[in-house]
Amino acid sequence: MTIVYSVLLMAILGIGAGVFLAYASAKFAVKEDPRTKLIEAALPGVNCGACGYPGCPAFAKAVAAGSVSLDGCLPGKRSGVPEKLKIVVEADPEKLISFFEESGEDAQKALEKLLEAAGAKAIPAPARPTRPSQEEIDTFKAKLKDNNRAMVIYSVLPNINCGICGAPGCAAFALKLSAKEDSADKCIPGKRQNTSQKVEKIFTISEPDIEKILNETAGDIAEIKKRLEV
Ligand code: SF4
Ligand code: SF4
Repeated sequence: MTIVYSVLLMAILGIGAGVFLAYASAKFAVKEDPRTKLIEAALPGVNCGACGYPGCPAFAKAVAAGSVSLDGCLPGKRSGVPEKLKIVVEADPEKLISFFEESGEDAQKALEKLLEAAGAKAIPAPARPTRPSQEEIDTFKAKLKDNNRAMVIYSVLPNINCGICGAPGCAAFALKLSAKEDSADKCIPGKRQNTSQKVEKIFTISEPDIEKILNETAGDIAEIKKRLEV
């Protein structure tokens, strides 16, 4: 009988602990700040790193903390992201939370409501660029071996394969640039690193010198980049 009571007691204690833990986790769960969620909803979602942060969620947190300029998202400049961010960061917190709750915690819908209430001019968000598949990236990278100038241009591109330029990855874009079929200005994430000017400079290097750079660096991208900086 004692064993039965002990087992019963253990079971009751176990259930009690489980119920308490479930209650505690619901009660003390740290909910993400709705303002950060709305800020993130206003960003392009490209995760390209052009803002200097590892992706849009990190940039959104920095905006919420007031530690970064509202126009730091380069790809978002054309779709009114700085203006949208200004509205979000200056919004009355009570109003912002009520929009968020009314929208079933859907940040995109809450953002639309907030922008509408603020009378913001509708600036449609551009279609998100298509990120290339790994297979596409590898296919174009393999083609660089047959194009010396494209290989050198590739070394100065950000190599994040975001697709913003419209090409399926940086290697594909380098090939287009080497054939003068596109403009380096389309690489928005490269703007902070002066990619356009670097590409322009590469076109001033003669074919024999390009070949020399590749031979001396054994085609190592980091080494090519260093050579160009000299
Ligand atoms: S630059 Fe804009 S799109 Fe790119 S990671 Fe930063 S916030 Fe996201
Ligand atoms: S070259 Fe194109 S894919 Fe590469 S970082 Fe620039 S915009 Fe993105």
